[in-house]
Amino acid sequence: MKLLDQKVTLITGASRGIGRGMALELAKQGSSVAFTYLSSPDKAAELEKELSTFGIKAKGYKSDASDFKAAEELIAAVLNDFGRIDVVVNNAGITRDNLLMRMSEEHFDEVIRTNLKSVFNITKAVQKSMLKERKGSIINISSVVGVKGNAGQANYAASKAGIIGFTKSIALELGSRNIRCNAIAPGFIETEMTAVLNPDVVKQWREAIPLKRGGTPEDVANLVVFLASDMSSYITGQVINVDGGMLT
Ligand code: NAD
Repeated sequence: MKLLDQKVTLITGASRGIGRGMALELAKQGSSVAFTYLSSPDKAAELEKELSTFGIKAKGYKSDASDFKAAEELIAAVLNDFGRIDVVVNNAGITRDNLLMRMSEEHFDEVIRTNLKSVFNITKAVQKSMLKERKGSIINISSVVGVKGNAGQANYAASKAGIIGFTKSIALELGSRNIRCNAIAPGFIETEMTAVLNPDVVKQWREAIPLKRGGTPEDVANLVVFLASDMSSYITGQVINVDGGMLT
């Protein structure tokens, strides 16, 4: 018997990075996994195959989480294929960093639409089926930057802070129906998203982190497994940092 046997999880943006790490850990623990990707059908097919080796049902869907209508269609397709959705992980996200002086309106809008509006789109589309099941766990991937701010990331920080307000509100709205909603605030996690950063800056960050290393996708995935499981059944409305002590 595994921790997540019989569960069905949907993750957005899972063809690489933290999303991919979560998909693998959830599958290892027995959850069936539906996941979305935007532009890499090969990576998605590879992940689907890898997930299936854990003996669970897995399927990738090409879907833009920032598109309201696409989110509705996605949820309908996943419900049709899997029967129900117990857990949603709103993971899809982008950065378009710049100082405010140089930040374009397009880059501000793009980050808010992809990182924040996507969470609204998917959560709104899935809530009806979770209400019917009278259970559910919604896990939103925020960031320590949403808690603390960061120079050069006003758009990203605003989107991630917005996720925290959204998470707490949904926890209040849906708690009486046994639907939980929590946010995870990762610190510096070493993925393709952070691989583009200046190596000297990265070195300084690693040194400043109390645990003296960047995080891995598995570090975040382990908390996702816990929040997806019934072991966290009395936890809702929380923002939990996975940051090696960065915000301490
Ligand atoms: P990543 O760039 O490797 O992965 C992001 C994924 O989201 C990609 O697969 C991408 O295709 C997908 N995506 C982007 N826009 C999408 C859209 N509109 N619809 C569907 N999918 C879309 O980044 P990552 O480091 O794995 O980050 C995953 C999440 O964790 C993001 O929300 C990110 O903001 C957050 N986060 C990352 C870090 C870090 O240090 N890496 C820290 C804090 C928070």
